[in-house]
Amino acid sequence: MSIRIGVLALQGDIEENLNAVKRALSTLSIDGDAIQVKYPEQIEHIDGIVIPGGESTVIGTLAALNGSLKLIRDRVSDGMPALGTCAGMIIMAKKAYDRVVGETRQKLLSLLDITVERNAFGRQIDSFEAHLSIPVIGKEPFKGVFIRAPIVKDHTDNVEVLASLQGKVVAVKQGNIIGTSFHPELADDLRLHTYFVDTVLSYAKR
Ligand code: GLN
Repeated sequence: MSIRIGVLALQGDIEENLNAVKRALSTLSIDGDAIQVKYPEQIEHIDGIVIPGGESTVIGTLAALNGSLKLIRDRVSDGMPALGTCAGMIIMAKKAYDRVVGETRQKLLSLLDITVERNAFGRQIDSFEAHLSIPVIGKEPFKGVFIRAPIVKDHTDNVEVLASLQGKVVAVKQGNIIGTSFHPELADDLRLHTYFVDTVLSYAKR
């Protein structure tokens, strides 16, 4: 069996996620590929999806315009695994607001029972790296790359917290969905992508 993982390729760090997924597949010796997906007909034929970091308003607007937002929502509600990094996590949230401008009324997937605060650590200039403890992927600290990063301000009890930083939730899991405030695709550490790829494999085998 071969698995196919789509990286939503509308805007953001698409190449970095494609590379991380490809390397994760090869590290795990899984037969499969990572491909760019833009259109609903491509999203029909994948076993998992990554929504990259970038600008969540742009990704959400483009995905709504071409119909892929609705299909991603349907497929992920139906159990297909999804990984959202930074802007990708924002798009998967039920609610989002900006730390400075407040309500943004942007297009969201409303799949993760979280409220995110966008740009919670400040602007581009306030971007930083920090070592995170993420017990589900192992004991070694994970280098979190935070770029105009959001935080999970609120979540329901069915959301599992995977990592926090300075008391702020920065990685979550709810069933088949993983969301991170930071960019694991920029960390040169494949553990979060291999964790995700493993869930895609179980889903494809079901
Ligand atoms: N600040 C961006 C947003 O709100 C996210 C930044 C990122 O993905 N690095 O969409």
